[in-house]
Amino acid sequence: MTDNKAASGNGSILVVGGGISGITTTVEAAEVGYEVFLVEKNPYLGGRVAQLNQYFPKLCPPSCGLEINFRRIKDNRKVHVFTLAEVEKVDGTPGNYTVTIKFNPRYVNENCTCCGDCEAACETEISSDFNFGMNKIKGAYLPFEMAFPARYVISPQIIGTEDGKRCKEACKYDAVDLDMEAKTINLQVGAIVWATGWEPYDATKIDNLGYGQYPNVITNMMMERLASPNGPTRGKITRPSDNKEPESIAFVQCAGSRDENHLPYCSYICCMASLKQTTYIREQYPDAKVYIFYIDVRAPGQRYEKFYKKIKEDENVFLIKGKVAEVNEDSGTGNITVVAENAETGEKIKQTVEMTVLATGMQPTTATVKLPADLKYNEDGFIINDFEKGGMFAAGCANKPADVVSSNQSATGMALKAIQTLVKR
Ligand SMILES: Cc1cc2nc3c(=O)[nH]c(=O)nc-3n(C[C@H](O)[C@H](O)[C@H](O)COP(=O)(O)OP(=O)(O)OC[C@H]3O[C@@H](n4cnc5c(N)ncnc54)[C@H](O)[C@@H]3O)c2cc1C
Ligand code: SF4
Ligand code: SF4
Repeated sequence: MTDNKAASGNGSILVVGGGISGITTTVEAAEVGYEVFLVEKNPYLGGRVAQLNQYFPKLCPPSCGLEINFRRIKDNRKVHVFTLAEVEKVDGTPGNYTVTIKFNPRYVNENCTCCGDCEAACETEISSDFNFGMNKIKGAYLPFEMAFPARYVISPQIIGTEDGKRCKEACKYDAVDLDMEAKTINLQVGAIVWATGWEPYDATKIDNLGYGQYPNVITNMMMERLASPNGPTRGKITRPSDNKEPESIAFVQCAGSRDENHLPYCSYICCMASLKQTTYIREQYPDAKVYIFYIDVRAPGQRYEKFYKKIKEDENVFLIKGKVAEVNEDSGTGNITVVAENAETGEKIKQTVEMTVLATGMQPTTATVKLPADLKYNEDGFIINDFEKGGMFAAGCANKPADVVSSNQSATGMALKAIQTLVKR
């Protein structure tokens, strides 16, 4: 169900954040029989996972797992999904919270059939946030093909313009509502699970690695979008400056992570992400050379270790133990030279490649903006679970850097904690 009319009560649970963790908490609790309200600030569910091309270590598209979960949500009348929504205020104590939720306008109602006529009629183009600004989309758009809910969005940028009117006129289903306004509602819930996830660390803050200065230095999340069939290049990995098929690519590990000036902690997933992205490149370009500069390769557990060993056997993949000191561009060719010191031989290395990927880490969304609730955070901004106090819990990357498997385990555990809060009342 995707409505905002359901009755709330102290026997229900609020989940904030509709990424894989929030979705998991929601379906696990709802399938036990509890009423769950899922609040997501984006116009769609799926969070960062929706932006990935493939999952490590199985290398299957994340759409499989998401689709199964979307079906579980659709089939369960206990689940109420609120997109374009945010929590404004939380009052109360465990077992008895009053929550104020703000809904931002989508300007498209539930009549939408996703026919795409508004998109065709719209002339304005806006930068695609989903693709990290690597392409433009129309001011009336579907966030991505399998978006849930399957409903178009009209950008606030075209409201009050001729384009807004054109979209309305083009819609045969009376689904465009240009007068839609923001509104707030109050909900009563007994427990809250915060699954507000992570953001890629802002690579422009890492002065020596050239991101934002050199077009052929990209981040790992940009690489996920470049490799995705529904991405800005329809899945073809080409370098941004001239769309050339790269013959050599470098990965710079710990870009911003394990660094006191940026994120002091290990982001847990970026070694595995680069190893996975190496397979994207090697599949498209059998002769391309891949250079991975690392401090240590962290591939925890037997399955990840096996994945790492397989990549190491590839004779076109070079793993170099050495922290990258600087990255320079040859302005004539657009090529990038990565400078590092080999930690094993002490030798200074200068490796010129056609494109460089910064393995940027995860920063909790709560590092910069704190949530409107009485929560504790650690020094890096992750929410600390205070099980003694109870009532409110953090799941997935809101609590610590994690892969999807660990996020799901944490989310299932927090569904149980939320249920225990309701049962104890
Ligand atoms: C380059 C890269 C590749 C990766 N590849 C893999 C992989 O192959 N396999 C794997 O297991 N893991 C991978 N990961 C890790 C994976 O992305 C995370 O494990 C996963 O995203 C965690 O999900 P989450 O729900 O905790 O957070 P998120 O995916 O960040 O979801 C959080 C959701 O909460 C919403 N939200 C945030 N704040 C609010 C708010 N205040 N109100 C309402 N909603 C809010 C957000 O919009 C978002 O939808 C990769 C990570 C990176 C960086
Ligand atoms: S809003 Fe109307 S025109 Fe646009 S996709 Fe939906 S049904 Fe089609
Ligand atoms: S996972 Fe690897 S690249 Fe990421 S911070 Fe940890 S050691 Fe560095």
